[in-house]
Amino acid sequence: MQVADNKVVLIHYTLTNADGEVLDSSAGGEPLAYLHGKGNIVPGLENALTGKQVGDKQQVEVSPEEGYGLPNEELIQEVERNLFDGIDNIEVGMQFMAQTPWGEQPVVVTAVSDETVTVDGNHPLAGEVLNFDVEVAEVRDASEEELEHGHAHGAGGHHH
Ligand code: ZN
Repeated sequence: MQVADNKVVLIHYTLTNADGEVLDSSAGGEPLAYLHGKGNIVPGLENALTGKQVGDKQQVEVSPEEGYGLPNEELIQEVERNLFDGIDNIEVGMQFMAQTPWGEQPVVVTAVSDETVTVDGNHPLAGEVLNFDVEVAEVRDASEEELEHGHAHGAGGHHH
């Protein structure tokens, strides 16, 4: 069975950045399960996997545009420190969920002053070239429920 839209695909992968640092890997664990054609994984990787079969291995270089996008200045904001009432020590690197016009989004603190806190809502990998070492472990038909939800269930997928 080939990787195609509406198939559940299980992949083993190792993700490294342009410096060769390993950012994420399924090695030694369960493969990742995703529903193909639904944008569950970055577009560059999804496109590269189309038509592949179990056992196929490849290295895929994904540009920021086909990955997590380019950093967006508008997602970096300086906000009043008193918005963080009840949190005593705000430090660079802390993560929060923020209400934005696009819904709840994770942001990371990038600067702190007496009056303000700078938060960045860009994906941590925005602007990065991603190198995926990927192997197709399994391809199967999606269930009705998976198609309805737009993601894979079971091992390596969503549990709920
Ligand atoms: Zn679901």
